[in-house]
Amino acid sequence: MYRAQETVLEIDFKVLKQNFEYLKSKIQANTKFLAVVKAFAYGSDATEIATYLQNLDIDYFAVAYVNEGIALRNAGITKPILVLHPQAVNFKELIDYCLEPSLYSAKVFNEFIAIASLQKQTNYPVHIKFNTGLNRLGFWENDVNYIVSKLKETNAIKIKSLFSHLAASEDLEEKAFTLNQIESFKVISNNVTNAIGYKPMLHICNTSGILNYPEAHFDMVRSGIGLYGFGNSEKENKNVKPIATLKTIISQIHKIEKGETVGYNRAFKSASFLKIATLPIGHADGIGRHYGNGKGFVTINSYKAPIVGNVCMDMIMVDITNIDCKEGDEVIVFGQNNTAETLAQTAQTISYELITAISQRVKRVYLK
Ligand SMILES: *Cc1c(COP(=O)(O)O)cnc(C)c1O
Repeated sequence: MYRAQETVLEIDFKVLKQNFEYLKSKIQANTKFLAVVKAFAYGSDATEIATYLQNLDIDYFAVAYVNEGIALRNAGITKPILVLHPQAVNFKELIDYCLEPSLYSAKVFNEFIAIASLQKQTNYPVHIKFNTGLNRLGFWENDVNYIVSKLKETNAIKIKSLFSHLAASEDLEEKAFTLNQIESFKVISNNVTNAIGYKPMLHICNTSGILNYPEAHFDMVRSGIGLYGFGNSEKENKNVKPIATLKTIISQIHKIEKGETVGYNRAFKSASFLKIATLPIGHADGIGRHYGNGKGFVTINSYKAPIVGNVCMDMIMVDITNIDCKEGDEVIVFGQNNTAETLAQTAQTISYELITAISQRVKRVYLK
């Protein structure tokens, strides 16, 4: 174990590999695996993660935006990269870097065909996204004829896959809704496939879809959060483990008397003698203000220390009155035991938000 001397996010590649192997064990041998590495691989560092995963049995990567895909290409990633939410202003660069766009509306579809034609592309691989109930991005079922008629007018693009995204794959109370999404995806993909006369790949499952809907894996699955160690359920959290541990240290300890206050706006007022530790991590590092004032906590020598007062930009103060510790001691903000999910819940949010928020100024350390 690495002993922190400053704030660091420690990434364990052995755990990443175990999570990947667990997820792979849930899919058929001939089902492809796409690793979602958008948002700096959910805060872990996309180029490091993708470079590591590229040597495992990964078929595809996905990012949200074109600049994320360019960073991967510049780091030597050669596998196909799906860009989930590209904007037309970046289509030329997308082609220059051999990234593959998700085309989700008539506007971006036509804009992409225009630019691909201008660049003298033929059969450029694209992925058509359908909305089956999330109502976020995607063509509707009744857009199929329009898409097919436009495709017949050009040879600049070729459909590599048809896909959709589930709205509530982790929520088994929404099973009927999810099954309905899967059904309408089947109808749409049959219609498109019959009309174009070749078979693009089909995919709809994210991590919870992989785990909860084995019948809907189709040709490929897309996993993000599961790789990083969150299964979105108590049961699955036993099968995957967080790859990231956020550590910091105690910068200074203050002893304060009853009636004194701690931090900005004097938000915390002590009711008795207290020992308070100041830690070098704040909202600019990704610990938002909503964790302040007793909601969030960190772990010091296995004991919970609640955050007192407001979260500052570069610091938090925690109550260590009953903890045997000294300046320089290591502090765990989240990790394998006190997970980001548990900490996120103290502020009514989810693991995804907390881990993707850890800012670039926090040094990443890799255990390989
Ligand atoms: C982010 C994203 C995923 C990954 O979802 P997880 O729940 O993290 O596995 C998959 N597909 C799409 C379209 C996404 O935007």
